[in-house]
Amino acid sequence: MKGSGDFSIGSAVWPGISKLTEECGEVMQVCGKLVGSHGEVIHFDGSDLRKRMQEELADLLAAIEFVVAVNPLDYDAIAARRDEKLKLFHAWHDADIAKEEQKP
Ligand SMILES: [Mg+2]
Repeated sequence: MKGSGDFSIGSAVWPGISKLTEECGEVMQVCGKLVGSHGEVIHFDGSDLRKRMQEELADLLAAIEFVVAVNPLDYDAIAARRDEKLKLFHAWHDADIAKEEQKP
């Protein structure tokens, strides 16, 4: 039995969602390996997790940009929220770094 192909690149129903899901999972896989290796970039299977993270983040960014481009989504609204979140994440990070630096 053949599926409808909906959600795939080239379909009429939310094209690219299947690729977006796949790439999210691949980023999660590398995150799991990094946590499992206690942050060491050389995984016990010999692979370079920094390189794999870069590759999978690039794939995810491409999938996100594709989904935004070909679906009825408001790029400007997405970009505005992204900018707000990015600012917030940097503020949290900077505050935690400053707290760490003040520890005796
Ligand atoms: Mg990938």
